[in-house]
Amino acid sequence: MKYTKMKDWIRKLYLPVGIPLGLIIGIFLGYYFPDFALSLKWLGIFFMKSLKMIIIPLVMLSIMNGIGRIGNLQKLGKKGLFTFIYYTITTAIAVIIGITFTLLLGFGDTKPPLKEQKPKEVQLQITDIFLNMIPSNIFESMANNEVLPVIVFSLLFGWAIALQGKRSEQVFRIFFILEEAIIKIVHLILWFAPIGILGLIASRIAEDGEQFIQELFLLQYYARNVIIGLMIHGLLVLPLIYFIIVRKNPFIYIKQLGIALGTAFSTASSSATLPVTMDCVENKAKIRSETAGFVLPLGATVNMDGTALYESVAAIFIAYVANIPLDFYSMILIFLTSTLAAIGAAGIPEAGLVTMTIVLKAVGLPLEGIALILSIDWFLDRCRTTINVLGDAIGAAIIDKIT
Ligand code: ASP
Repeated sequence: MKYTKMKDWIRKLYLPVGIPLGLIIGIFLGYYFPDFALSLKWLGIFFMKSLKMIIIPLVMLSIMNGIGRIGNLQKLGKKGLFTFIYYTITTAIAVIIGITFTLLLGFGDTKPPLKEQKPKEVQLQITDIFLNMIPSNIFESMANNEVLPVIVFSLLFGWAIALQGKRSEQVFRIFFILEEAIIKIVHLILWFAPIGILGLIASRIAEDGEQFIQELFLLQYYARNVIIGLMIHGLLVLPLIYFIIVRKNPFIYIKQLGIALGTAFSTASSSATLPVTMDCVENKAKIRSETAGFVLPLGATVNMDGTALYESVAAIFIAYVANIPLDFYSMILIFLTSTLAAIGAAGIPEAGLVTMTIVLKAVGLPLEGIALILSIDWFLDRCRTTINVLGDAIGAAIIDKIT
């Protein structure tokens, strides 16, 4: 009797205690014992790979099963519409916060020099965002872990299966079992999360901890504006929207999401975090899987409040360093293109840095600016990914409430 009680206790506390501990020990080891920390890198890669392994089957099954559970295709359309409205409004608010606070706070009086080196060569056009949604070969998209085209295919396929009426029930019955099996694997991977997170953080800090502090000092006002903006959005705006619509304490919900937020911070990838987010939202917060299975995968790739906010602050910062004054028209352009750049960013580490070219090109800012903010991006990426995941999860709760 006593033994089973202890087992339950360990099971309950293992992740909520293990994940913050993994983070703290990771930072400590990375900073004070960098050689040892580097030798732990493989533990992080192991964790990251295990999560990535599960993304595509999980996304496909949860989207198709979502359609199977909803049954009524009109209801699906309603969910889709509300999801779209939620994504658009919250992303726009995030950009407005980024722009407003940056204009209010400014960048102090330090002006780091623009670096000579060229930014990454990849340059995105706005139309690419839409073209990238259509898979030219579904297996290729699956093999490359490209979530958005897989979502488009799964929506179409799920819809086509549902159209078969009664006969589709047989297919969905099998799909439901497969989904449960995949979720079992997610639970298994989660047991490794604290150690994986420790490995990811420790090795990252060991790689350039010293240099990072120097760069952070040089870019402190830019980093401050991004972080303050993210905190206002994540701890004030999103919880307030949740409270107004769901009518529950948002901080209890955020606590239930703790493991997902910790994973988002340590992996810097919304897509890799997706299995964990789905687990927290469905199993801890008890959001219906027909909603979570639809809103979360889509959100992990297109709804990025944190990225949108960061893009706007970064653009204003680059203009400031390059001595380019921004008028009202430029601000509107930054607002629109930051939103698009966030939609276009994949849920992978530092994707926002690549789509940043959309904003810079539209406003006429030097692309070299990207090289300027590159050095501390790995850190800000983790912060914005955490807010991206929070935005998706709050969206799932809201859409579940109103549909
Ligand atoms: N790493 C972010 C994410 O996965 C995307 C970005 O680079 O902003 O959500």
